[in-house]
Amino acid sequence: MSKRPITVSVDRLLRKRDTPAPRKLPADERSCPKCQTHWTSDEMRRNMRVCAACGHHFPAGARERLDQLSGGAPWVELWPELRASDPLQFVDLEPYPDRVEKAEAAGSNEALVVAEIPIGGHDCVAAIMDFSFLGGSMGSVVGEKLARACDRCVERNLPLVVITASGGARMQEGVIALMQMAKTVVAFDLMHDAELPVIVVLVHPTTGGVWASFASLGDVTYAEPGALIAFSGPRVIEQTTREKLPPEFGRAETQLSNGQVDDVVDRRELPARIGKVLGILERPSGMAPAPAVTMARAGAERAANAARTLPDLSRRVVSKVLRSDDKGGR
Ligand SMILES: [Zn+2]
Repeated sequence: MSKRPITVSVDRLLRKRDTPAPRKLPADERSCPKCQTHWTSDEMRRNMRVCAACGHHFPAGARERLDQLSGGAPWVELWPELRASDPLQFVDLEPYPDRVEKAEAAGSNEALVVAEIPIGGHDCVAAIMDFSFLGGSMGSVVGEKLARACDRCVERNLPLVVITASGGARMQEGVIALMQMAKTVVAFDLMHDAELPVIVVLVHPTTGGVWASFASLGDVTYAEPGALIAFSGPRVIEQTTREKLPPEFGRAETQLSNGQVDDVVDRRELPARIGKVLGILERPSGMAPAPAVTMARAGAERAANAARTLPDLSRRVVSKVLRSDDKGGR
């Protein structure tokens, strides 16, 4: 340690103040938090919002990601008209409808955008989460859109590509948001029964109810470098356990070494990688649905018929139970 005394010269400080400090570029969403390099909007767009100097991945909107994946080919958005209602009339610092209105004014219509899109020349349905819309939280609209996306895949014999970015379930919708965990898992089950591939890409951050439901159920699971993938974020765990977590906790690279993801892929390589996997897994056009699909549909029909006869059935069961009780009593 240096033993030099610290001297403060007021004159020197005043002189320093006279000379203007070198102009710093404003720290905005285009300044890299890792290496401080500043990029123009155009440079950021061309490099898919990845820092060309250090490889840091900036957040990207759902529609921009669709453009990146399709390589500029046209895509068609599905069900953009779906909007959440406010059945709980939830108010925290402000009413839920006001929050939704503000998020919509910023440019997105929900935290999930679904589209039919070609990736690497292969048609698929893509469901892309948008963290800028209420933290990518999963509410009734996210669940409904994802379920419809799976239905569309089964109808059209298409694979599903999902990009997740979410803080978890949307607290303003309470238990209705939590129900979307089960709904999306059942929808993914339909894809599984139909033998159609699901590719999931986990981007920063994928946490809470989204990671605990459909995000962890892909047939092929990729993650972007440095993405936080965890049920609870490190800050919450540290506050609860009062223990310091290592900086690599929950990061994509750690999840890769733990076997939770298949690979960590740079965003600039994602379209080519997904296209390649779709090419390997897609079913040739004109091929009949797999026997499992026919069985699943027949099973659903039987279940519906059973549900229709349920009141009658329950009456019969109740009367039978009562009769056997009578016999037992004798
Ligand atoms: Zn950088």
